[in-house]
Amino acid sequence: MSSDLGTRTTLRSALEAVADRLDRLDGVKDPRPSVDLLAAVVLGVEPGNELGGLDRPPTAREQGRIDGLIRRVEQGEPIAYVLGFSPFCGRIFEVSRGTLIPRRDTEELVRIVLDDVRARPLPDRPLVLELCCGSGCVAITLADRLPGADVVATDLSGEALAVADRNVRRHGMTGRIRLGQGDLAEPAARIAAGRRFDLIVSNPPYIPSGGIEAMGPAVAGHEPLLALDGGADGLDFHRRILDEARLLLSPGGRVFLEHEHDQGESAVRVAHTFGSEYEDIRVLRDSGGRDRVLAARLGAR
Ligand code: GLN
Repeated sequence: MSSDLGTRTTLRSALEAVADRLDRLDGVKDPRPSVDLLAAVVLGVEPGNELGGLDRPPTAREQGRIDGLIRRVEQGEPIAYVLGFSPFCGRIFEVSRGTLIPRRDTEELVRIVLDDVRARPLPDRPLVLELCCGSGCVAITLADRLPGADVVATDLSGEALAVADRNVRRHGMTGRIRLGQGDLAEPAARIAAGRRFDLIVSNPPYIPSGGIEAMGPAVAGHEPLLALDGGADGLDFHRRILDEARLLLSPGGRVFLEHEHDQGESAVRVAHTFGSEYEDIRVLRDSGGRDRVLAARLGAR
């Protein structure tokens, strides 16, 4: 029984048992929650700091909170929404039901983009755009890893942007990232005010409309449809982004779009529908060798 967990032991060992238990229950399969994150939530403090003082028995109130967390995950809620936070690329990000839960797959997107940028450096002080930013975890990680970059991040959802805004502040990125609400290119063009982007990155919705239910109740019943549904073949946003990016990118500017493992060939076909406007069209692979990201460069006209 969940109420037995940790009642006769320390808060730390109780939370270790809870982390294992939640990891087994979670239907989204986001990363196993760390003891520090669980401790922050149970103690009601801002996550992200090392917490001491866990080697004592949990109080009745803490035990009540632990039992409450387990109950909600047992009832099918994703861990990240129950905790209100999720790890991504070594940091903790606030999430809500208005944002997609950051995935390990999207950590691969970030790694792939950074590898590519290392191999072919961006101009000095590059202007970087993340479309469909959700919680802002990609934009914030890119701003951190690309210290000279000016980052713009946009989303259609005001609820997601409110979370992204808190994450930007939480990670001290207020001077580095500008957020905008609206449909794809529109807010980005408004914020850039005539400047062109050197890099566009996005994890847009890409699940085919007919395939969302099959992702299981934790995903289909809890995560925002707006962040998942990519239309009949899942690539509606890839089409629209490549279309609109022609007006946003500088000549030679690069775009990286996450997609599903089996969408690589179709994503390449989408990029080729723009004739010779995009060059160097490639599918990049994750560390497991599976197709993951469509990359293309806008030709220098
Ligand atoms: N990668 C996510 C999943 O498989 C979907 C994310 C998306 O559509 N952008 O659950």
